[in-house]
Amino acid sequence: MDAVPESLISELRPKILERRTRLQTAAGAVSTDYIHDLLAEIDAALERIDNGSYGLCESCHDPIEAGLLERNPLARFCLDHLSEQDRKAHEQDLELAAQIQAKLLPSNAVHLSGWDTHYRYEPAGTVGGDYCELIASEDGKSLFFAVGDVAGKGVAASLLMTHLSAILRSLLSLGLPLAEVMSRANRLFCDSTAAAHYATLVCGRTTAEGVELCNAGHCSPLLLRQGATERIDPAGLPLGLFCDGRYTLTSSRLAEGDSLVLYTDGITEAQNRNGNDYAEERLIHSLRAHLGLGAKAMADGVIRDVAQFRGTLRPNDDMTLLIVRRLC
Ligand SMILES: [Zn+2]
Repeated sequence: MDAVPESLISELRPKILERRTRLQTAAGAVSTDYIHDLLAEIDAALERIDNGSYGLCESCHDPIEAGLLERNPLARFCLDHLSEQDRKAHEQDLELAAQIQAKLLPSNAVHLSGWDTHYRYEPAGTVGGDYCELIASEDGKSLFFAVGDVAGKGVAASLLMTHLSAILRSLLSLGLPLAEVMSRANRLFCDSTAAAHYATLVCGRTTAEGVELCNAGHCSPLLLRQGATERIDPAGLPLGLFCDGRYTLTSSRLAEGDSLVLYTDGITEAQNRNGNDYAEERLIHSLRAHLGLGAKAMADGVIRDVAQFRGTLRPNDDMTLLIVRRLC
């Protein structure tokens, strides 16, 4: 039989204990049956951790979905065996999170003269933990773009992603240099999230010469030129890990027809039936096959190619791909 990962249990145990402390405080003020019932539920969960049955469905004995346990560490049934009422509540939460997330995605119609851009955002479930941004500056002279990946999955990851989006949008409105945007975003993310929460992010701006980029632990962007592909490697640490994270700017020249590609590891780590990764090599091959056809054709071509590679296997991670192509 499958087991619930130890790491998840050790992450949830303190949360359950904290609930117990809070409830005990509340019980001192108002002693109701409701609080006593909740305390009993918490003690039963702690007991399940001690006897090794924590996180297993009481009906089918399979592990309860991690997302469900993160949302409710006291859960006793898997998704298939939730009560009708609980299942509805869970579905409504997912639906709401998906609506919030959809509103935050940029428009693919964002346009800057001389540039051709397109992104594809493909969450593995109803909601995703990937982040994608595309904003034209107020003076219409440059384009800000970003792709990121928040640790974790499901509703919790999508909420962190909306948090990251709000932080970046408010910092961008201050007109700061990119490396400064990144280090402030890192501090704000550190201050406002739990230690286990972090995000990788690469963001950039178009310039007269090409692009400038700042990378916080995200997979290396690719630069596709006529006949050559380069990875843009230098990277800082992911956001949210260390409060004094430092970030540096990399500038790259882009000539007419050159493309910059940002993506998340849901693409390169997509697996086929044989357990092989799609990998950077296939990504580059697919991009180059559509190189002259524009940003949309390149992005659509890669997503189609990954789906073909994966075959009938379900995606296990979100996929995001953003193309920034210089027209003239
Ligand atoms: Zn079950």
